[in-house]
Amino acid sequence: MDHNSGAILVLSGPSGAGKSTLLKEVINDIGECYFSISTTTRQIREGESNGVDYHFISTKEFQADIDDGMFLEYALVHGNYYGTSLKPVRKALKAAKLVIFDIDVQGNEIISKRLGDISTSVFISPPTLNELKTRLKGRKTDTEDVIVARLEMAKQEIQRISEYDYLIINDELKTAANRLKVIAQAARLKFADNEIDEFKQKWEDID
Ligand code: ADP
Ligand code: 5GP
Repeated sequence: MDHNSGAILVLSGPSGAGKSTLLKEVINDIGECYFSISTTTRQIREGESNGVDYHFISTKEFQADIDDGMFLEYALVHGNYYGTSLKPVRKALKAAKLVIFDIDVQGNEIISKRLGDISTSVFISPPTLNELKTRLKGRKTDTEDVIVARLEMAKQEIQRISEYDYLIINDELKTAANRLKVIAQAARLKFADNEIDEFKQKWEDID
């Protein structure tokens, strides 16, 4: 039996840890992927585009989507809602793609409960809090206040690393990218519970 169903790769970690940078490094080496574009109620930032970085909607629209059961998971992060739409994820999984999420620790908790048999989770961290500060400053996308808030948030997120399958310390970029590549390739090889049942049934068939 071929293993041909899709799989999920969850990436979490403090803002500024290097998740987008690492993903860009490996995206061409990990086969067919679908990067899940989340929906959020937060304000669009300079340089972002609607439908590319996020689907930006109002709180009222978000609430209606919750009521309609549109989200695989959603969470309140820094006072704004963020959610993963179910439909495109289902479609990508059916097409045997590796579905990649950049979601927070609350989102990972839900995904691992709902779809743990086909998901692999990775926490990406900079080597130190100090280095995170340097990177956030260097990225030049956040004000001083926002950076202070992100560092506080990072201290809390780090406490939940043990909930993840893997920790990648993004110190030397090439080394970290290589690790992410290996993990993404292995994530695809995970067998879903139903595939295991199917295999066991067929395995006992005698001509
Ligand atoms: P995230 O997507 O996790 O918020 P980014 O990918 O935007 O983080 O990275 C934050 C900043 O850190 C960017 O300016 C990026 O160029 C830089 N960066 C990422 N990885 C490294 C690394 N290994 N060493 C030094 N700088 C890095
Ligand atoms: P930012 O506003 O900086 O883009 O993202 C803030 C946080 O929200 C990050 O930790 C990011 O991983 C998380 N996030 C983005 N999209 C989602 C989502 O769909 N679900 C959850 N649970 N978290 C998300």
